[in-house]
Amino acid sequence: AAKIIDGNALARKVRGEYRGRVERLKALGCVPGLAVILVGEDPASKVYVQNKVKACTEVGLRSEVYRFPASAREEEVLAQIGKLNADPSIHGILVQLPLPPHFQVRRVLEAISRDKDVDGFHLYNVGGLVVGDTVFPPCTPYGVQLLLESEGIPIEGQNVVVVGASNIVGKPMALMLLAREATVSICHIKTRDLAQYTLLADILVVAAGKPRLITKEMVKTGAVVIDVGINRLPDGRLVGDVDFEAVAEKAAYITPVPGGVGPMTVTMLVVNTVRAAERLVAEPRSSPAVESLP
Ligand code: NAD
Repeated sequence: AAKIIDGNALARKVRGEYRGRVERLKALGCVPGLAVILVGEDPASKVYVQNKVKACTEVGLRSEVYRFPASAREEEVLAQIGKLNADPSIHGILVQLPLPPHFQVRRVLEAISRDKDVDGFHLYNVGGLVVGDTVFPPCTPYGVQLLLESEGIPIEGQNVVVVGASNIVGKPMALMLLAREATVSICHIKTRDLAQYTLLADILVVAAGKPRLITKEMVKTGAVVIDVGINRLPDGRLVGDVDFEAVAEKAAYITPVPGGVGPMTVTMLVVNTVRAAERLVAEPRSSPAVESLP
């Protein structure tokens, strides 16, 4: 039976480490600050924003939430981003996605200062990911990478299959593991014969948003299975994209839903925000009040 990778436990450990880093920043006169922009009333988005604020508080960061109605104009949101870009007490800015349909998502994301882009969605950070040298890796794949590292799972030379090719999970995940010299395949909705690929995977990362997409027959014995999916079933239960019970009999490692990737995603947002603040403190020109990090 597979070892179940405990995302809650790793998230607690990382948050504990970062509490210390926040204390050091505070001793230097810097309280790391995150600003979250939430447009509209999407219930899942509201819960995600609550969790992000809670994680910040737990680690000692300051956070602010700017709420806009779904009818807000793009210019209002851009103006708020402009203010936050110029605000020295704010080190990280994130716009909760999805935005209402009348928004040009790329335009909004590109308005965020690349030094405060803690979600890692600005083209500058996306480009960094492509050349294997990004400042702020996107939180979900960053969390998955840490889960793999925490278990000592080798990445170099491994066959990695990523199911899902979104800009926020699948594509950056593939690029990050490629940078670690894995052999990476990306599958998506148009992939013919998904199982042909998944059966090759030493490490299978699934981020499709389809309950039970990955069955036992599609997984190689001894594989590492990372389930990013979050799906609400009609009976109210929360499940991933992997048929957990059956696949756990065959895999070497598996992440549960909930309690796997989810807590790590929120934790990596805190990590990126602390890192954004540390970069500013370490850069004398941007922060003349403080000399250097200890
Ligand atoms: P998305 O809808 O933007 O992208 C889904 C991707 O999966 C697409 O590339 C699509 O082609 C592919 N796909 C869909 N059905 C498929 C199928 N039958 N076979 C193969 N590929 C298929 O979704 P996303 O934003 O990348 O999120 C994916 C899932 O991960 C969702 O369930 C989401 O809720 C979850 N998620 C979880 C976290 C977390 O912290 N755990 C973070 C982000 C997203």
